[in-house]
Amino acid sequence: MIVVMKSDSTRGDIDRILERLTRVNLSGHLSQGVERTVIGVVGETQLHPELRNELELMAGVEDVVSISKPYKLASREFQPADTVIEVGNVKIGGGDLVVMAGPCAVESERQVIETARAVKAAGATVLRGGAFKPRSSPYTFRGMGEEGLKILAKARAETGMPIITEVLSPQDVELVARYADILQLGARNMQNYILLDEVGKTRMPVMLKRGLSATIQEWLLSAEYILAQGNRQVMLCERGIRTFETYTRNTMDVSAIPSAHRLSHLPVIADPSHGTGKWYLVPPLALASVAAGADGLMVEVHPSPDQAVSDGAQSLTFENFSKMMVQVKLIHNLFRSDTVAAT
Ligand code: PEP
Ligand code: MN
Repeated sequence: MIVVMKSDSTRGDIDRILERLTRVNLSGHLSQGVERTVIGVVGETQLHPELRNELELMAGVEDVVSISKPYKLASREFQPADTVIEVGNVKIGGGDLVVMAGPCAVESERQVIETARAVKAAGATVLRGGAFKPRSSPYTFRGMGEEGLKILAKARAETGMPIITEVLSPQDVELVARYADILQLGARNMQNYILLDEVGKTRMPVMLKRGLSATIQEWLLSAEYILAQGNRQVMLCERGIRTFETYTRNTMDVSAIPSAHRLSHLPVIADPSHGTGKWYLVPPLALASVAAGADGLMVEVHPSPDQAVSDGAQSLTFENFSKMMVQVKLIHNLFRSDTVAAT
């Protein structure tokens, strides 16, 4: 349920509504837009059927409306204003563009630090790298584990870049959270509800990748799990979906970016590396994603892609990453005016 306030409502009117909600163990999530304030009601509103009529009669209230979507906290109706997540000096959401770049997997200190320096010089502001790797085959490299997290932390100390890294299982959340600045939930884990609950209990920024065959609604319902635990620092990541096409690794669903923006206030990051699986398709799909309003990009970069232990075919060289970044910045400046408010 959301309470839409009149444009001339006062702070006192808002406080009286918040206080009324508290009396029945509900809380209000304030979303102050330029034109009007909306209060999203959090909690089990169905237990209080009398509330709706009462709220409608309170001073300053324009309307009380039900949220039409199965996800509530993630919806634009609940919070019309974009969520902006701050990670150190980096702002994610609300018009800025964040570029997260680095190797698919942490392989060595030298590989990570060299890559961190190169992507930073080209304009990336977050370093990515997997220490716990979800692999389709159990016989391939599955990551360096905590050793890999230590290497990422060292790269952060050297470059000042915050780090994003994947957490694969609920029992590792505490360990990964000790090193990471942003927790990544991988596509294969989008519907691991125990893991979603667990990262929801932290107060760390989380990037939730879209599942391999997940609809946009299922993706937003997964985000809802994290939000419902009280963690409001959630960003979405479109990383391609399974279709009948086999030329590309996945089909990068660029339309999911403005769709998610229309349905939700959460920032949307695009990952054209996993979205295409081919390094030469990464720059064009990165540009298309930025033009479609993505709040950021996640891109795999490796000092020698042909030597990479994972995802070499979709990893950019330092040189190609720098070239792409020049174009990315141009496209972002061209489109930044207000693509996000997809109406
Ligand atoms: C990754 O980012 O390295 C990764 C494994 O991605 P996804 O979960 O999208 O496959
Ligand atoms: Mn990868």
